[in-house]
Amino acid sequence: MKHHALKKEETKMNPKVKEIFDLAKATAQKAAKAAGKAAETAGRKTEEMVEIAKFKMQIFSLENDCDALFKDIGKSVYVTHTGDEIQPEEIEKRISELDEKYAQIAALRAKIELARPKRKCPACGRECDKDDAYCGGCGGALE
Ligand SMILES: [Zn+2]
Repeated sequence: MKHHALKKEETKMNPKVKEIFDLAKATAQKAAKAAGKAAETAGRKTEEMVEIAKFKMQIFSLENDCDALFKDIGKSVYVTHTGDEIQPEEIEKRISELDEKYAQIAALRAKIELARPKRKCPACGRECDKDDAYCGGCGGALE
């Protein structure tokens, strides 16, 4: 009897978790699209390194937000294990927030990439940062 009740609980819970995973998959495609578009419109060139530092700070802050959201989602999923009702709409909201923040991070990374002065490694042709002393590809010294 007890076993039966437990099993029932399990089958009641799983479709909701599945729903979340399906949702996560669907929103991932949306996020990839948004990120691509953001990168496209990131602009041509931002000259100053100050600008890059600012972008990096923004990324850092966004990543902290993401960590908090992941924690919240993890907790929401965990409570199903202790028998509490799962709240898909709460998780859905957080997943959308994560998507948004990841799109923002992607856009900022694209901006940093564009802002960075580049040069090619004379040995292997890899594109390196202008400030690098050594090539990240072949390890050769850069002039
Ligand atoms: Zn190289």
